[in-house]
Amino acid sequence: MKLNWENIDTVLIDMDGTILDLYFDNYFWHEQVPLSFSIKNGIDINAAKAQLKPLFKEMEGKLEWYCLDYWSDVLNLDISNLKFQLSDLISVLPHALEFLIKLRNANQKVFLVTNAHRSSLNLKMHKTKLDSYFDEIISSHDYGFPKEDQRFWIKLQKEHYFSNNTTVLIDDNVAVLDSANKFGIQHLIILSKPDSKLTEFMPCRYPDVVDLRELMIGL
Ligand SMILES: [Mg+2]
Repeated sequence: MKLNWENIDTVLIDMDGTILDLYFDNYFWHEQVPLSFSIKNGIDINAAKAQLKPLFKEMEGKLEWYCLDYWSDVLNLDISNLKFQLSDLISVLPHALEFLIKLRNANQKVFLVTNAHRSSLNLKMHKTKLDSYFDEIISSHDYGFPKEDQRFWIKLQKEHYFSNNTTVLIDDNVAVLDSANKFGIQHLIILSKPDSKLTEFMPCRYPDVVDLRELMIGL
């Protein structure tokens, strides 16, 4: 996979599953939340998982899905505090730091664009100390629309000018890349191994890389 870096001046990069290991989020939502929910409600873990599954499914791709306050209310659990307790599991994906350093040295404009809630974003930046590598850090919660929504990109471009022709978006979410594609962003890359403990998935529509090292060629 070779990006033509000469034609790119702005890098929009996702957080969870792109620079940070999605293992943390997968473990948190698929194991820890059901466990805490089962204890709180005096039910068995499998019953908790069965109850939570449709609730999660219904909110997929909506801003609420990423909103810790929403889940704290719906599940009657302190989600932010639970995340904090598990925060030792937060980790940077292989080669992500090298890639960010290289972008900096190449004078690329680098924006972190995430659907993560500010409290989760702050916790992760505090843990990984990656915040200094970005020109801007944008949570879609600030705009009121997730990256899956065209209005997110309209607002982003209005507030932080970038040209669609010279911008690359790197993300692990097909629906987000579809949305950026529809908006007109010309260079789109998908990460095919967002969770270090799961096997690589087979992306369909976009050029894919297993990790960010592959994108350093020519940078
Ligand atoms: Mg992601």
